[in-house]
Amino acid sequence: MFELNTDEIRAKLTDRKTRLEIAITKTEKSSQLVGLLKEVDSALERLDTGTYGLCEVCHDSIEKERLLADPLMRFCIDHLSTVQQKNLEEDIELSSSIQKALLPKNNLVLNGWDFNYIYEPAGPVSGDYCDILNTGSETYFIVGDVSGKGFAASMLMTHMHAMFHSLISVGLPLEELLSRANRLFCESTLTSHYATLLCIKADEKGRIEVCNAGHVQPILLSGNCKILDVRGFPLGLFCQSTYEIKNYNLETGESLLLYSDGITEALRNGKEFGVERLLDFVNPLTDFSPKHISNKILNEVREYSGSENRTDDQTIMLIRKI
Ligand SMILES: [Zn+2]
Repeated sequence: MFELNTDEIRAKLTDRKTRLEIAITKTEKSSQLVGLLKEVDSALERLDTGTYGLCEVCHDSIEKERLLADPLMRFCIDHLSTVQQKNLEEDIELSSSIQKALLPKNNLVLNGWDFNYIYEPAGPVSGDYCDILNTGSETYFIVGDVSGKGFAASMLMTHMHAMFHSLISVGLPLEELLSRANRLFCESTLTSHYATLLCIKADEKGRIEVCNAGHVQPILLSGNCKILDVRGFPLGLFCQSTYEIKNYNLETGESLLLYSDGITEALRNGKEFGVERLLDFVNPLTDFSPKHISNKILNEVREYSGSENRTDDQTIMLIRKI
């Protein structure tokens, strides 16, 4: 979770106050604008008195991601009015269906590759990013994970989706694509946010370029399965990060496993599933189809964590050279 940055919120509110004051002097005095200005003033006052971010009914902390989305929020989720509760439920439903609509087609054979992915949000929306883009001669396979949870994370995920679709259409080299995405992400998000991302660019002959922005490393499924050691800084942490590309060649029947840390960090009695266990588990599965392998992994992880509440989004992507 991220901490509330009160300086950032104060700056945001002060900016809104100025804009509202200008709007009020320029236009006819609208009661809506005056009402908003009062709310902004009251939020600034709460910042001064140290009660900002506390629910006015129960005095517990308001959910941070909701405050980030609306800095004027005065009540925790439990103490919203019936109308506000209903609006919130509708928003959740809408966000969830928007996210689902952004997912790529599944179980396709594309450009010499057979693939399958599983995308399992922990709640109604996910902070994981899962994408497959085909430019004709090349296919991009992407799995990413935005820091934080809930709505703030899901909004950043949709932002990443739009950013990668635009950048890939320009046809930049992979390392340049990631550095650009990093700079754009740096400039456009709150300082407390970052994302990890693994991007694979594959051609029909089985050649792949791998670029990793702080994400869990991919696993090559071939003979003895092994981790491909590709590293780099997460997106949005340092604006000037550069990225390194590693090249591999996949033979027919070899696969690559991409996943989010919700898989390896699944817990049982406080102990993580772990990368070693994942490696051991996929080792005898290399000959199976992507769909079979990804389902097997998910079942194994579910079995491992049993009834323990899942708190992190889980994504698995299997791509196989055919
Ligand atoms: Zn409350």
